[in-house]
Amino acid sequence: MGEILDGKAVAERVRAEVGRRVVALAERGIVPGLATVLVGDDPASRVYVGSKEKGCAALGMRSFGHRPPADATTSQLVALVEELNARPDVHGILVQLPLPNTLDEDAVIQAIAPAKDVDGLTIASQGRLLTGRGGLRPCTPLGIMRLVAETGLELRGTHAVVVGRSNLVGKPIALMLLEQHATVTMCHSRTRDLAAVVRGADVVVAAVGRAELVRGDWIRDGAVVIDVGINRTADGKLVGDVEFAAARERAAWITPVPGGVGPMTVAMLLANTAAAAETGPTAAAIGASASA
Ligand code: NDP
Repeated sequence: MGEILDGKAVAERVRAEVGRRVVALAERGIVPGLATVLVGDDPASRVYVGSKEKGCAALGMRSFGHRPPADATTSQLVALVEELNARPDVHGILVQLPLPNTLDEDAVIQAIAPAKDVDGLTIASQGRLLTGRGGLRPCTPLGIMRLVAETGLELRGTHAVVVGRSNLVGKPIALMLLEQHATVTMCHSRTRDLAAVVRGADVVVAAVGRAELVRGDWIRDGAVVIDVGINRTADGKLVGDVEFAAARERAAWITPVPGGVGPMTVAMLLANTAAAAETGPTAAAIGASASA
């Protein structure tokens, strides 16, 4: 029976580490600042932004909440982002997604200065990752890498299978695993015989958004299984993309849903904000690539 990879506990450790970095920054007269931009009043988005702002406050970081109305225009939001880009007390900018569909989400995200792109979603940040340069990485994949590291698994030479190819999770996590010298297979909705591909995996990352798509008997004995999916069943329960109980029978380590990848995402946002404050406007050096 596999061990539970407890995202809540690891996220607490990450927060404690960030807290120590905030203290060290204070000695240099720097207080990390995160600007949050929440457009409209979607209740779920409000909860997410609220937990990010609380996370900042708990560690002695500042947050600057911006709440443009739902009828704000794309150019108003781009102007707000540019203003935040120029502010020396703002080290990270978070635009809560999704934006109302009247807005050009991409134009707003791409306006974020790469040095302040703590969500790692700009083309510049993603390009830096693709080309093996340092830079701010997207929070969910960063959290996954930390969880894998906690298992003690040496990724070099392992076969990692990523199911899902979104820009938010699937593509960046595949690149980050590759950076750590795993042999990576990316799967998606057109992959033939997904079961056979997953059966060959030492590490499985499921980021699909389909309840229990990855069956327990697809998991190789001793594999590390990271379940990113969040799916609500008809009876209101939260389940992941992996058939948890059956997969746990075979896995060495497995993340639960909830309580696995989810708690890591906010913790890594706080870590990215501290990193952006440490590096200042030349964030290019953050998170140097693992070419060793
Ligand atoms: P997307 O919807 O953007 O991408 C889903 C991917 O799954 C696509 O690449 C799609 O393939 C692939 N897919 C769909 N059906 C199948 C199938 N039958 N077999 C194989 N692959 C398939 O999702 P995200 O990456 O944004 O999110 C994935 C999940 O992770 C969601 O449940 C989301 O809620 C959750 N999530 C959780 C986070 C957390 O903090 N815990 C953070 C972000 C996301 P194709 O490209 O061919 O269409």
